[in-house]
Amino acid sequence: MLSAGMLKKPAEQSAKLNMPRQRMPEQDPLERITNFQEVPYGYTEELAVIEAFRCLQCKDPKCVKGCPVHVNIPWFIGLIAEGKFIEAAWKLKETNLLPSICGRVCRQEDQCEKLCIRGKSGQPVSIGALERFAADYEREKATATFPEIPAWTGRKVAVAGSGPAGLTVAGDLVKKGHRVTIFEALHVPGGVLMYGIPEFRLPKNIVAAEIDYLKKMGVEFEFNAVIGKLFTIDDLFTEGYDAVFVGTGAGLPIFMDIPGENLVGVYSSNEYLTRVNLMQAYKFPEYDTPVLRGSKVVVVGGGNTALDASRTARRLCYEDVTVVYRRSRDELPARKEEIQHAEEEGVKFQFFTAPTRFIGDHEGRLIKAELVRMELSEPDESGRRRPLPVDGSEFQIDADIVIIAVGNLINPLIQHTSPDIEVSRCGNIIVEPSTEKTSKKGVFAGGDIVRGGATVILAMGDGRKAANNIHEYLTNSSW
Ligand code: FAD
Ligand code: SF4
Repeated sequence: MLSAGMLKKPAEQSAKLNMPRQRMPEQDPLERITNFQEVPYGYTEELAVIEAFRCLQCKDPKCVKGCPVHVNIPWFIGLIAEGKFIEAAWKLKETNLLPSICGRVCRQEDQCEKLCIRGKSGQPVSIGALERFAADYEREKATATFPEIPAWTGRKVAVAGSGPAGLTVAGDLVKKGHRVTIFEALHVPGGVLMYGIPEFRLPKNIVAAEIDYLKKMGVEFEFNAVIGKLFTIDDLFTEGYDAVFVGTGAGLPIFMDIPGENLVGVYSSNEYLTRVNLMQAYKFPEYDTPVLRGSKVVVVGGGNTALDASRTARRLCYEDVTVVYRRSRDELPARKEEIQHAEEEGVKFQFFTAPTRFIGDHEGRLIKAELVRMELSEPDESGRRRPLPVDGSEFQIDADIVIIAVGNLINPLIQHTSPDIEVSRCGNIIVEPSTEKTSKKGVFAGGDIVRGGATVILAMGDGRKAANNIHEYLTNSSW
């Protein structure tokens, strides 16, 4: 096997600088639209070592500043360059308990890789792909090792929601010796990682394996347990929990409030993706839940959710899938990799376009979508140009499925049952940013319930901060 040591010292620096960024091999687009298997195969050992060798091992590594959980990036990459793949995974796990997941879905291009010094005059180190490689290698090749868990402190913490925020809080607090139970509304843990992000981007066995690791560390789970229904937050304190973390995400779909949204064939992205990912509708009738396949699919929106829905539909529908987005291609908020993958898979795009209504047949089934062209307004006070409809530019296209992916709101259940937790006008829980503590004593919150739809790593960063402060709260009487 190749190792970085084989590259001789004098030529080392220029060899590093001349090496191009290594791409992960991936499934051919024509092949992958016929299946739900993961698209990139991941690095081979050889490719990982070459890519790791590109890292300059900066003294002041800017990449670490871009990581919300402060992974020691040069250290773990240095271990990969030396061929010490398992040690690299251990290093990662010191700060990130979900590295296989983050390596796949984090927005590295806006975080660590954006700040990587190599990106200034070329391409940044492929930090995410290396993270994925090390974590996968350890999971597949090594017996898992666990951090030493201290004796029980006598304190119990309840966590509402098992998305990345809740999982991180739980893992970090168990490592500090507290007992943690996660209460999850669904029958499986993982939040959006499980019900939102499709199998071809994040295989569910990988999410399950990382959660299993937490279980083995001692995190307990209660499923089908809706906080606000089964227990209120006050009930949890009565039950003997000393602190509560709320990480219930932003899972309430937003609709557009235009005619025809109730027609058969119009889905929210939540419903569509949940049917396919969580209930495995793509294996119907082997699995109970069906999903309409359709011939002409229109997806409304431009974020990760819209792109995930479009690529899922591409694998299920009989003809074509069109993403309708009201701004330009450059403004698509989805990850660049996802946009590229969608285009390679034949997803079509209509930019500067928005729906005005959906049209059905006499049985209430969707048959067409009416769209309108958009143009950008003059810049407003904030300098942003808003998309506005162009009068008279309406046109219709055939559609038997529409998937609306224009954002999510907070489910108001917890705020209704715990009115002493302060929330914003949109219903997001308000926290003290440096601690994640809410207006209610002993209650902390983080992730999408605080930020609105954000990212996995930001949710994890909130979880990390909350865990440190919950620990302070439980152990420091001056809090
Ligand atoms: P969630 O992941 O939403 O988890 C919340 C959990 O709480 C859920 O399991 C829910 O069932 C549970 N819950 C809700 N209410 C209750 C209750 N009352 N009691 C008990 N449990 C409850 N981010 C990225 O970084 N990269 C991506 O590529 C990416 N792609 C995405 C694709 C899709 C389709 C979607 C929807 C989001 C995507 N995101 C992505 C965003 C990211 O997934 C979220 O920001 C992140 O999951 C938020 O984590 P969380 O822990 O706050 O909440
Ligand atoms: Fe390596 Fe880039 Fe981080 Fe420097 S900034 S240590 S080159 S990954």
